Amino acid sequence: MLIRRKVEEIPPEQLNRFVEVQQQFRKWATEWYLSGFKTPIPEKNPLKYFARELRYALAIVPTNGLKRDKWNVPLPFNTQLRLSNERDKSRGVLIDLPQEEVRIRKWGGGTITIRLKKSSIKWIKERVEEGGRPVLVMAWVGRVRRSNIATFNVALTFAREVRPIEPHYILAVDLNGLHNGVVWGVVEKGRITKRKVERPDLVKVGRLQKEISRLDELCTKKGEPYCRQAVAAESRLRRLLRQFIDDVAKEVVEVAVKKKAAIVVDAPKDRSMRKIKQSRYNPQKKLYLDVGRLKKRIKQLAEWYGVPYSETRLYSTICPRCETKMEGLPSRKMRCPKCGFVAPRDKMPLIWAAKRFSELTSSFSSSAIALAVF
Ligand SMILES: [Zn+2]
Repeated sequence: MLIRRKVEEIPPEQLNRFVEVQQQFRKWATEWYLSGFKTPIPEKNPLKYFARELRYALAIVPTNGLKRDKWNVPLPFNTQLRLSNERDKSRGVLIDLPQEEVRIRKWGGGTITIRLKKSSIKWIKERVEEGGRPVLVMAWVGRVRRSNIATFNVALTFAREVRPIEPHYILAVDLNGLHNGVVWGVVEKGRITKRKVERPDLVKVGRLQKEISRLDELCTKKGEPYCRQAVAAESRLRRLLRQFIDDVAKEVVEVAVKKKAAIVVDAPKDRSMRKIKQSRYNPQKKLYLDVGRLKKRIKQLAEWYGVPYSETRLYSTICPRCETKMEGLPSRKMRCPKCGFVAPRDKMPLIWAAKRFSELTSSFSSSAIALAVF
């Protein structure tokens, strides 16, 4: 869970010190990374503390690696969750539910206290009820994309032990540009029993996009307040798509848990998506290509609830009967020129999942206990 506050909410001298420590730690972490993790651990706290926590953090969450020769790693903290009046074990971050706040310490500048919103407290309580506990907290100061707004960010990671469910069904998800719709369905041996296509509110999205380009133009010609308004409209749009993504991920995993289905996702390779993003693809549509986030959400939730998850190709354009390349017909239908098989394009990945049912269900290892990270 991510807690984000404007930097103005942090006392200025603490903020300056925090940014300073963050820079020093990133410098060390970059050297450490480039040396193949051989650079010695810093001798003094707080850097020594963070270096130790980073080793542990890397075992839990994947890292993004270097960006422009720098490793912009957040500051990692060990943590304790206080539910009622347990003794303070003086870990880096105390998540204090009775006081409704998070206290960030051990970074060399005193204690930064962040008030928890009701929604965050609810989220934490839900994870605890499911048997989760916090294993890692990361904090950093950063900028909101394309704007000058700096924020103080705190990310809580919870984990729990989970016994994977034994799948009787497959829930197949076909991820393409979000504007084409996310197609998912439940597949039984050779049969599709449920199918759904979900799209974000395209009218609303279109309206916001028009608004953004109008404000962008005014920003270039006249400056403020239009630039600020453009940024605000953009974050509204991003929020809208994020909400859509979160809702779809939640629905998919809920159905998988209820049906005892394993999730199989067909997502375009990150590399091919990046290529499209860099190409002259219609910029209005580029934002729909962020299916990576949806894939990640589904994966996270699936792991948390013990739903077996895998990624594989489920073809939309290859005939499931004779494996010939199919032709597109009007109204998004596909036809096989060799055997005459016809099906809606959206249905094709599910037909493939049904065809490969035994192979897909047997590929999951069963009954190991996994640590799920949320
Ligand atoms: Zn065919």
